[in-house]
Amino acid sequence: MFAAVREAFPDCQRYFRAKARALGVERLAWYDLFAPIGTSATKWDYATATAFFIQQFGTYSDWLSAFAARAFRKQWIDAEPQPGKRAVALCERLLNYRPDFVSMSILAHELGHAYHNFNLINRTALQSHLAETLSETASIFCETIIRQAALQQAEPGEQSAILDASLQGAAQLGISMTSRFLFEQRVFEQRQQRELAISELCALREETQRETYGDGLDPNALQPYLWATKIHYYDPGFSFYNY
Ligand SMILES: [Zn+2]
Repeated sequence: MFAAVREAFPDCQRYFRAKARALGVERLAWYDLFAPIGTSATKWDYATATAFFIQQFGTYSDWLSAFAARAFRKQWIDAEPQPGKRAVALCERLLNYRPDFVSMSILAHELGHAYHNFNLINRTALQSHLAETLSETASIFCETIIRQAALQQAEPGEQSAILDASLQGAAQLGISMTSRFLFEQRVFEQRQQRELAISELCALREETQRETYGDGLDPNALQPYLWATKIHYYDPGFSFYNY
């Protein structure tokens, strides 16, 4: 799997260079990775998005469409932004929904997880435990249905915004996850000998970003503190989360 991901690094790095040109900078800083591109005229408010989902999921399966309709009707999703609510989405339950395509992709992704779990209802507890590599399949599949449908009806400026959101996601899954895995691997290796200082953790985080983002990122504008902000590193159930 990592070999296949590494083969795609040059394409991701080409996307970073293209994004830098679009933003008018020589090379992307870490924070530029998440900067918006294109113009998004369509307001995907929650009601519009949910109606779109029910319709588009139906192009794949009535079962999936009916599941999404039920989730919306029964108000399973806490979508309203609230102060203090963390800006992450977890399965079907929680989301800070904003009326844009990124929020809509997240909602599609998390509904895919919920749908996968729903289909596992009659499985045993052991059978329902999924490896990360498999558990992301249904979620990314649902995101893809929504992206393709939204691209078809979008204006050119909006198409750039949708493609950028999609490439951001792909780069996140391929490059960022690989850099986080390398970081975890090196931390575990070195931690067997001794405790590591904050400066060493930061240096490892930058080193693994340089190795994976290549010339796509400005080497002087990386994110050394990513180990401090990702909760996954601190949950004992998640050791090697990024594999
Ligand atoms: Zn997921």
